Amino acid sequence: MAFGFAEMEIGVMVLFRDGSGLLEAMAKGFFDDVESNWRSEEEEQTSSESDEDLDEDPDFVDLAYAQSEEDVRLLRDDDNQFQGYVDHDAIDNAGEEDEESDNNPASPRMCTPEHSSSESEVVTGNCLRKRKLPNFKDFIPSIDMKNPQFELGLRFPTREIFRAAVRRHSVLIGRELKFKVNDGSRIRVICDEKCPFHLYASSVHGSKHVQVKSYVGKHTCGQGNANMHANAKYFSNWYESSLTNSNWDVASFQEKVNQETDYYPSRAQAYRARSLATSNIEGSYTEQYELLWDYCEELKRTNPGSSVVLKSELEGDMPRFQRVYICLQACKQGFLDGCRPYIGLDGCHIKGPHPGQLLCAVGVYANNGMFPLAYAIAEVESYNTWKWFLELLSHDLKIENSHNYLFMTDKQKGLIDVVDDLFPIAEHRCCLKHLYANFLKEHKGLALKLQMESIARATTLPWFVEEMKKMLELDTAAHAWLCERDASQWARSHFRTDFKCDIFDE
Ligand SMILES: [Zn+2]
Repeated sequence: MAFGFAEMEIGVMVLFRDGSGLLEAMAKGFFDDVESNWRSEEEEQTSSESDEDLDEDPDFVDLAYAQSEEDVRLLRDDDNQFQGYVDHDAIDNAGEEDEESDNNPASPRMCTPEHSSSESEVVTGNCLRKRKLPNFKDFIPSIDMKNPQFELGLRFPTREIFRAAVRRHSVLIGRELKFKVNDGSRIRVICDEKCPFHLYASSVHGSKHVQVKSYVGKHTCGQGNANMHANAKYFSNWYESSLTNSNWDVASFQEKVNQETDYYPSRAQAYRARSLATSNIEGSYTEQYELLWDYCEELKRTNPGSSVVLKSELEGDMPRFQRVYICLQACKQGFLDGCRPYIGLDGCHIKGPHPGQLLCAVGVYANNGMFPLAYAIAEVESYNTWKWFLELLSHDLKIENSHNYLFMTDKQKGLIDVVDDLFPIAEHRCCLKHLYANFLKEHKGLALKLQMESIARATTLPWFVEEMKKMLELDTAAHAWLCERDASQWARSHFRTDFKCDIFDE
């Protein structure tokens, strides 16, 4: 060997004159370096890391934590085998070509980037050549975890991700893979005793990522019905959306899992998976509610002049969220500057683990488009919550004389009463769509629907009377039903003209 091993670090590798010398150095230096790094790390961290391992994964079963001599021998064999994976041709050729510069005292250098190695530059005297080195693939959890495929040299960002990939693979192939050696830096996975399958990965240079150093993917065993990896935790991870669906039922869930994985989860497993998935989601909701106070302060800071009112009630000593009202300064000012004196009010349900009601108020700007005014989240839609909302809103929109305003509602009982109480002399219209929904209960048919719309659209009183006559001819009961309703709430011909707004919601 003309040149010796001089330097071997991530990013910088010294080229040797003699190809076999390089391999020997790599064997002794590069990969044993990994081991020595691992050893020193192990000595420093000893059992703390493996304890943490067990804490993180209660399902994990470590079959032989202590390494036997056999294990040590196998690990060494694997590292040696992995060295065989390095592209010898490229390195050997590099060695041959370098012989020309045998007498050159400067050692030729080959640079390898830290995380990959498809190509690297070889400097030979004054020439710069490209050399091909092994190209290791990276495991991308968001893409590859759906169906993990292993190969020699494949790199995983962390050992936890590697173990999750093994568990996923184990369930997908229907075989119970076992972690034989798992000490934080080195993980060996085996199948049945007589099955040739085995997979070994270890960390590189003491870094967090682990790399597959040995892999035999062939199985001679048969598929089994039991698998410790196909447990409630696994199902809660992979079926979270269907487990938290409100239409979930245990039998169809068992069937779905069985079709996709060949395993049939027990009822207890299914229920446990569901509760795990639900608590995962609810946990994140709860955390978000805790941030609501900060959110309100941030809204006020970034939108000066905005009204943000958070109402909480005491549950023991702890404040518990009850309602929040938000009216941004730009919305307030927009209403005062350029909107018609129209306020549309409606509420809708909020679903999820913390159900409630979303109350909102919208205006109409000069081009008859919708303009958001304010919104609130309240526990229910009732007289009390609407009163609380409208009192705050009328203060923000500076509504002093309600005669100048019109309110559009969906005929919700509590809401109508509040509008009548708070704005007694305002015009009160109701949404035609909601009115028609009530009309439809007793009077069905497209002809009646179209005629009702024609009556609502009529802009003058004689026209209105004319359209009502047509309704009478069509259906006397429907005509009578409409006569009982206050036309000033839904027919254009009866609207006041002060607002310069003849909108009726349909
Ligand atoms: Zn097997």
